[in-house]
Amino acid sequence: MTNLETYADFYRQSIDQPDAFWTEQAKLIEWKRPFDRVCNYDNPPFVQWFEGGQTNLCHNAVDRHLTDGADRAALIHISSETGVEKTYSFRELHVEVVRMAASLLALGVGQGDRVLIYMPMLAEAAFAMLACARIGAIHVVVFGGFASGSLATRIEDAEPKAIVSADAGSRSGKVTAYKPLLDEAIRLSSHKPAAVLLVDRGLAPMTLLAGRDHLWHEMREQNLTADVPCVWLDSSAISYTIYTSGTTGKPKGVQRDTGGYTVALTASMKHIFDGHAGETFFATSDIGWVVGHSYIIYGPLLAGMATIMYEGLPTQGMDGKPDGGVWWSLVEKYKVSIMFSAPTAVRVLKKQDPALLSKYDLSSLRALFLAGEPLDEPTARWISEGLKVPIIDNYWQTETGWPLLTVANGVTPMQSKFGSPGVPMYGYRVKLLHEVTGEELTAPNQKGVVVVEGPTPPGFMQTVWKDDARFVKTYWTSIPGKMVYNTFDWGIRDDDGYYFILGRTDDVINVAGHRLGTREIEESISGHAQVAEVAVVGVADALKGQAAMAFVVLRDTSLAADSANALKMAGEIMKRVDGDLGAVARPSRVLFVTALPKTRSGKMLRRAIQAVCEGRDAGDLTMLDDPTSLAQISRALNH
Ligand code: ATP
Ligand code: MG
Repeated sequence: MTNLETYADFYRQSIDQPDAFWTEQAKLIEWKRPFDRVCNYDNPPFVQWFEGGQTNLCHNAVDRHLTDGADRAALIHISSETGVEKTYSFRELHVEVVRMAASLLALGVGQGDRVLIYMPMLAEAAFAMLACARIGAIHVVVFGGFASGSLATRIEDAEPKAIVSADAGSRSGKVTAYKPLLDEAIRLSSHKPAAVLLVDRGLAPMTLLAGRDHLWHEMREQNLTADVPCVWLDSSAISYTIYTSGTTGKPKGVQRDTGGYTVALTASMKHIFDGHAGETFFATSDIGWVVGHSYIIYGPLLAGMATIMYEGLPTQGMDGKPDGGVWWSLVEKYKVSIMFSAPTAVRVLKKQDPALLSKYDLSSLRALFLAGEPLDEPTARWISEGLKVPIIDNYWQTETGWPLLTVANGVTPMQSKFGSPGVPMYGYRVKLLHEVTGEELTAPNQKGVVVVEGPTPPGFMQTVWKDDARFVKTYWTSIPGKMVYNTFDWGIRDDDGYYFILGRTDDVINVAGHRLGTREIEESISGHAQVAEVAVVGVADALKGQAAMAFVVLRDTSLAADSANALKMAGEIMKRVDGDLGAVARPSRVLFVTALPKTRSGKMLRRAIQAVCEGRDAGDLTMLDDPTSLAQISRALNH
């Protein structure tokens, strides 16, 4: 029996006997009250997991470990921006979370109230999230890098009772004062929070509004000996809402439950990440994104692991000086066993000296998980050869909460395939549907839309915050005649059942009647040894309907500086695409830039590139990380 067949049994049980399967998984967490019904799917597509049960996320992530692991490391906060490096044991984490919970209660926050957290990667942000979970408040973490406008729309939508924030964030040594941005956002929003709790890290002066603004160090002082027990919550109680990255449009407020999410994450730590209590997990994301929720804060702590919360660039040392080896130094120092990052971060490191990968003792590391964007084969190879550990691609969304496609090495060792995130994870009824007819594609190697049939597994979004109708309309009725969850990603399944994600459904290009995923063309181009990064978009073309256009960042950007060389390089790249995919996929133009427009979460903003190429307004750009990158696109076009 091959390994895949072993996992196949596990998977099949999750689909054929979901009640038995999830009852077993539910034993991984502690319940105050047992559930009466495993899965209530009486009102599709809405699902209620573990109905009648009562539990608490904070209890399972923190308090639970006090009996057998109180002195083990829980939260390791590291900032290469400020040089802070501090480890909190489970006992210390518990004390701080209780103080934060007491402070929130004192500010009038109650069960079901929203608490918006607008913070850099500080330990206090973790305390605040866990404190909300403790008292049954709903946290709404908004990425600290957002400016007032983006923050205001989220305040407006979430209607928080309180906001937890800080004086400032720091990126690459550059301090951004948060307080003025927050004040402006509150001014712009018609909803006003009753209280604002501020962490003063001494980076920027703050003006406090009497009656509304409070300082964390003062409130903490008042609650040093507080005792705030966990509130036992119904399984379906909302734990948090989080907005999607906004790569394709207006961010959606994804809402999550308590019981299902706690079970799903705990199970994923065991079956997918294979992380064990006492070990260290290092996810390089930000708490503003779903990866930060699931795998910086909750997942590792639920598993009794220590988790590293890192503020800073991957290329900046603890002394603030450039150091492309800082992450690996942390792996050595904290004996990290599982790491989680994004392809975009690896592509940044790819421009660094490869010797940095062998400078440190990485023997504790067992796997590097990468998610968030398609992982091209050259990048995967480069990092796997450098680190000498398995690189595990995993595909999921803010909406799903945990990986939908990957390999479950905790169940049984499974083979990864370059370019594929893997196979459907247990509990997910993944299907490929024909984009137009909606028919299921059962034969291998056919391109279709990746969908999930209900009931969706525990941990999956409950609904869109305050908008059940939008949840149904956006996700469940986009394919005529079928009620299935649409991922809006395009995929293909090979003979072995491995999926390949070909890009987003709105990133498909139609060249003279041929439908091509931008991902396929990008994959071919990134196979060129000199290419560090590439974005391909479809641009309206009078003759062919659409033509592919490629924007390339070279590993050595000076290579494209002289136009003869750039022309030669473009020729090489086009030839490559001809060879891999055929002339129909050949980009009409290959242009060189030094940076590509991305969201703050590191995702390529193809819709903005496309708009610029077609001379249209690029639309909402609040999530754009580096505005000069879009200006480069228009300069390259007019060159
Ligand atoms: P929005 O939905 O607001 O447009 P978004 O889709 O970028 O934003 P996220 O939920 O952060 O928001 O990202 C999920 C998407 O990221 C997936 O739908 C997919 O397009 C892409 N993605 C994530 N992981 C992978 C992966 N391993 N391989 C390929 N694509 C991935
Ligand atoms: Mg999305």
